[in-house]
Amino acid sequence: MTTLTNTQVLELKSYINGKWVTADNTVDIINPATQQVIAIAPRMTKNQTEQAITAARTAFDNGEWAKTTAQERAAILHKIANKIEESFEEFVTLETMDNGKVYGEAEGDIQDTIACFRYYAGIILHPDGETYPVPDDVQAMVVKEPVGVAGLIVPWNFPLLMSAWKIAPALAAGNTIVYKPAEITPVTAFKLFEIIDEVGLPEGVANMVLGQGSIIGQTISESNDVDMVSFTGSTEVGRGIMRAAAGNLKKISLELGGKSPNIIFADADFETAVDYGLFGIFVGSGQVCSSGSRILVQDTIYDDYVKRYVERAEKIKVGPGLAKDSHMGAIVSEAQMNSILGYIEKGKEEGATLLTGGHRLTENGLDEGFFLAPTVFADVTQDMTIVREEIFGPVVTIQKFSTEEEAVRLANDTDYGLAGAVFSNDGAKALRVIKQVRAGITWVNDYHPTYVEAPWGGYKQSGIGRSLGKYSLEEFQEVKQINIRLNVAPVGWFPQ
Ligand code: NAD
Repeated sequence: MTTLTNTQVLELKSYINGKWVTADNTVDIINPATQQVIAIAPRMTKNQTEQAITAARTAFDNGEWAKTTAQERAAILHKIANKIEESFEEFVTLETMDNGKVYGEAEGDIQDTIACFRYYAGIILHPDGETYPVPDDVQAMVVKEPVGVAGLIVPWNFPLLMSAWKIAPALAAGNTIVYKPAEITPVTAFKLFEIIDEVGLPEGVANMVLGQGSIIGQTISESNDVDMVSFTGSTEVGRGIMRAAAGNLKKISLELGGKSPNIIFADADFETAVDYGLFGIFVGSGQVCSSGSRILVQDTIYDDYVKRYVERAEKIKVGPGLAKDSHMGAIVSEAQMNSILGYIEKGKEEGATLLTGGHRLTENGLDEGFFLAPTVFADVTQDMTIVREEIFGPVVTIQKFSTEEEAVRLANDTDYGLAGAVFSNDGAKALRVIKQVRAGITWVNDYHPTYVEAPWGGYKQSGIGRSLGKYSLEEFQEVKQINIRLNVAPVGWFPQ
C-alpha cells in the first residue's frame, strides 16, 4: 500500500472497472492546517463517470456479484475491515491531514469505519425475508434483493466514515457501486480503494470517481443506468439530486444538514450540561451535521450557564490536528472558513451579542492554516440568520426559554430535523420533551454518540431515509413478493 511521508505528495487515481485511471486535469489536495499540498487528485470527466456507471451496470447485470452468497460477501467485508485495521495509524494520520480534524477525532472515525464494515459483514448473515399465511392454497413469501447500481456521494467532514456508511451496506446487499468522495478530501478514499483492489471483488463491482460534484455527482444522479443514489451532504445539493433523480425515478436516500437544538433545563447537572454544550458544537470545529448549534437554556440558570460556557470555550486550544495538545482542529478549507466568517458578520449586523471568538486565529503559526476561534453568540432571536441557517463551523447561539412549552416551540422552529438533546435530572420531563422534538437522532443527558446498530437520519429538510443499522441495509435492497401455488391447475376464470 502507498504510504505518505511528510515531504511526499500522493498521486491519487480513480478506480474504474478494476483499473486505476487518471485524468488530464488535476487538483491539489491541501492540509488545511498548513496549506501544504499532500496529494494531487484527478478531476475526472463526465465521459469517464459514464464509463464507471457502465462498468457497474455490466457487473450488476451479468449477475456474478449479486449471486455471490452472503457468506462470500461477508468475507470480503471482513477482509476490508482487517486491512484498514492493519494500516490504522496511517489512515488516522491521513484523515487528520486531509480534513484538518484533531488526531483523536480521526482515531474515532477510523475505529467506527472498521466497525461499520464488520457490522454489515455480520448482519447480512442474519435470517432474512418473511412468509405470509395467505388464502388460495398459495405459499407467499418475501425476499430481499439488491437494488442494482448504487451511486454513493459523500461530503468532506467525515471522509472515510461517511463512505463506509454507504459502501459497506451497499456491497453487503449485493449492489455494484459508483462512489464519489468529496473533491477536497479524497485521500483516505483512495487508500480504501487500494484495499478494495486487493480483496478480490469482480471487475466493475466497486468504482470510485474523483472530482467535482457538479460533474461527477450530477452525472451519477441523472443517469438512467443508476438505480439508486445515496447522498450525504448539504440540503441544497440534496434538493438538486432529488430533481436529477426524477428522470428514471431512481431510489434516493438523502442525509442532509441540520440546525439542532440542545435544551438545558434548570434542573440539569450544571457542569455536565456545560460540558456537552461545548462538545455538541466544537467537536469537529462545528463541521458536523448533527452539531448542537442552538443551545436553549432555562431562564433561571441562563446567566450562570453563559458565563461558565464562555469561560470554558476560551480554554479550548485550537491547533493543527497532528499536534497532540490541540483540542479543536482546522476548518476544512479557506472557502468554508470565509463562509463561516460571513455568518459571524451577519450575526453581528443583525444585532446578536458576540460573547467570545468571532475571528480567524493567526498567532503561533496558525496563520499557515484555516483556524477559527470558538464563537459564542447570545441575545439572538428566531428570525436571525445565525439561528436559522446551518453555519457548519464553530459558532453557537445560546437562547433563553422559560417554560417546557417554549423550549419545545423554539427547538422545533427550524426547517431542519436532524438531531436534538435535552439535559434534565427529571427523567419524565426529559422523555416528554425529547419525544416532542421533531428530529431523527436525539439524546438525553448526552450529545453526539453514534452507534452503527442504530438508525441515522433526519426529519423535515434534514433528509429522506435512514443510514446505519438494518435500515441502511434495507435502503440498498428491493423487496420482492413470491407467491407459489401449491396445487397446479388452470384458474378457470374464462370459458374453456
Ligand atoms: P455538499 O453538498 O457541498 O457536497 C457533498 C457531496 O456532493 C460532495 O461529494 C460534492 O462533490 C457533491 N456534489 C456537489 N454538487 C453536486 C451536484 N450538483 N450533484 C451531485 N453531487 C454534488 O456538502 P459538503 O459541503 O461536502 O458537506 C457539508 C454538508 O453535509 C452539511 O450540510 C452537512 O450538514 C451535511 N452532512 C450531513 C450528514 C448527515 O448524516 N445528515 C453527515 C455529514 C454531512
